[in-house]
Amino acid sequence: MTLTAPPRAATPQLPAFVTGEELHELVQRLFPICRSITGSGVRLTLGILGEYLPGLQVSAVPSGVPAFDWTVPPEWNIRDAYIKNAAGERVVDFQAHNLHVVSYSVPVQGWFTREALEPHLHSLPEQPDLIPYRTSYYAEEWGFCLTHRQRLALTEPGYEVCINSTLAPGELTYGELLLVGETSAEVLISAHICHPSLANDNLSGLAVAVFLARHLQQVPHHYSYRFVFAPGTIGALVWLSRNGEAVGRIRHGLVLALLGQAGPFTYKQSRRGNAAVDRAAALALRAASVAHEIRPFVPYGYDERQYCSPGFDLPVGCLSRTPYGEFPEYHTSADNLDFVRPDTLLDSLLMTQAVVEVLEANRRYRNLHPYGEPQLGRRGLYKHVGGGPDGAGWQLALLWVLNLSDGHHSLLDIAERSGLPFEQIQRAANLLVSYDLLAAE
Ligand code: ZN
Repeated sequence: MTLTAPPRAATPQLPAFVTGEELHELVQRLFPICRSITGSGVRLTLGILGEYLPGLQVSAVPSGVPAFDWTVPPEWNIRDAYIKNAAGERVVDFQAHNLHVVSYSVPVQGWFTREALEPHLHSLPEQPDLIPYRTSYYAEEWGFCLTHRQRLALTEPGYEVCINSTLAPGELTYGELLLVGETSAEVLISAHICHPSLANDNLSGLAVAVFLARHLQQVPHHYSYRFVFAPGTIGALVWLSRNGEAVGRIRHGLVLALLGQAGPFTYKQSRRGNAAVDRAAALALRAASVAHEIRPFVPYGYDERQYCSPGFDLPVGCLSRTPYGEFPEYHTSADNLDFVRPDTLLDSLLMTQAVVEVLEANRRYRNLHPYGEPQLGRRGLYKHVGGGPDGAGWQLALLWVLNLSDGHHSLLDIAERSGLPFEQIQRAANLLVSYDLLAAE
């Protein structure tokens, strides 16, 4: 006599039309835009995200508004920038690549000796063909980023320099989408939106978040989901400072970043380290049988730094592939549209969805026949089909769920303690409920 599993539960599937190419197309559309922490690039980007996510709300917060210990900076916009040689040729040209200008550079115009220009140049001697990405958000600086080969070729005594930018009172913009579920308790999904032409960091995170939202719009969900697309650090701080009520409803959260490069998954735990989202991510990654690493929280990285600051201590982890600074293309012009692959983006979306599905399904049950084991055979839970591939695991799953469903242990607890896949534990619970052996708490 063998105990066999019922057919796989109908887990929500991606709508058939979603392909990795579709995610990559969104990355392609966003890639040319020169974004920063404020300015028209962020507005343009939010406009495109709004095409994918009707209902996306864009908020604008004026320069000078405080957010905890920070202040919304002047708005930065740039039209053009170059370094010209004596012949009038652009030897460094913002029009060719927006990484060429240090983000938030103050305007500058004039002739500079080669020597005077030197402290304003940034290049990577170890990667002589790549343009680095640099910012000077909170300092009055200007500068150019260029390949090291370009820098070595600057041998004339002087150059004409122009950065046609403005730093003026304006606004910081961020986008937000709330998908209301059965409960007002919320899951926060956050991705930074402030990098210029860099594909993995973080257009990949934006694309995965957008398509996760589109998926959730099409399936019933227990939690309400709040998607926040905000410039790094200051954007998250501004959002936190203006949304105290929503912050109080956050039960789980994920920062999505660096999800388009084919490295192993990396999950960075929340500050709490044992939050449900930390445990759900670990189980989802284990079940997927993919190379992955789980790292403890450190107060550095993306906006989990703000969400996990001690005053909030929100249960927000960060899902990425290879972490920042650990791949040679990081923050360089090599983080381009070829570096981010459609199939990787799709895998990242599916993994994010798998974490969400664990959170959605996790709950506590109570065994309605807790005095001894209920007789499973009499109820038709045993089937004579010659031993399914996961027959033994399936029997164990039923027994674990019955044993630990005392109203105190959640399905996450049971999956962890049994070592069985969460999805199997979930199916066992569903079946036991349908046989009136178990009731949701
Ligand atoms: Zn970055």
